[in-house]
Amino acid sequence: MGRLVVALDGPGSSGKSSVGAAAAREVGYRFCDTGLLYRAVTWLAESRGVSVDDPEGLVGLVDDVQLASDADGRLAGVLVDGIDHTADVRAPAVDSAVSAVSAVPEVRSALLQRQRDLASGGGIVMAGRDIGTVVLPDADLKVYLDASVTERARRRAQERRLDPDGLAAAAILEALRRRDHLDATRQVAPLRIAPDARIITTDGNEFDETVTAVVGAIRDAEARHVPETGGSGDAS
Ligand code: C5P
Repeated sequence: MGRLVVALDGPGSSGKSSVGAAAAREVGYRFCDTGLLYRAVTWLAESRGVSVDDPEGLVGLVDDVQLASDADGRLAGVLVDGIDHTADVRAPAVDSAVSAVSAVPEVRSALLQRQRDLASGGGIVMAGRDIGTVVLPDADLKVYLDASVTERARRRAQERRLDPDGLAAAAILEALRRRDHLDATRQVAPLRIAPDARIITTDGNEFDETVTAVVGAIRDAEARHVPETGGSGDAS
């Protein structure tokens, strides 16, 4: 069985982290949610009063952020100075500010090698926006998880137990639309579907159906995967 590098991209609240973590567990891979790195830098910038217009100040925060691994090897938590801030980085205030911070080229370059190092050795599902296009363009499998913005907003409102017709749910929809736009139109590493990605659209899917689809894609890719031999590669 291969130990592949799997890039899992998609827009906000498309289920990358929950689906990716569940699929990784099923196939015995590690999981890394790279959105947490951008969220943690954003949260730290707000807590320490570093402006989005201060690239050097933002880059100075990067080394204080660590991803935390759970017992299954999933990097789905954030530590700052050894303290768990996973819940803080998922707060609505971070949702609103994170796209501006992640559009800063210096922040992206500071995080790039870190993400590549995490993926080295394979056997990993790495979730984000630019994993298949920029971070791991040679990934063995690229999956793009998509869903309409209304479906994504509905799921997020449900997670937060909000009235689907209330003002708070409407604000989530607006914030997601804004984040989609900012993430897709930024100059550096915008959200794009890699040409060789397998697109899985999840509108109307149950969570388990999406996990099964991602696990199926990984199993297919493992079956097709021919390990590199390091030979001359002479093509005939
Ligand atoms: O995936 P999540 O919604 O947690 O990501 C938060 C934000 O981090 C995104 O809106 C995006 O601006 C940024 N991000 C990114 N590149 C990644 C992962 C996340 O720019 N690989």
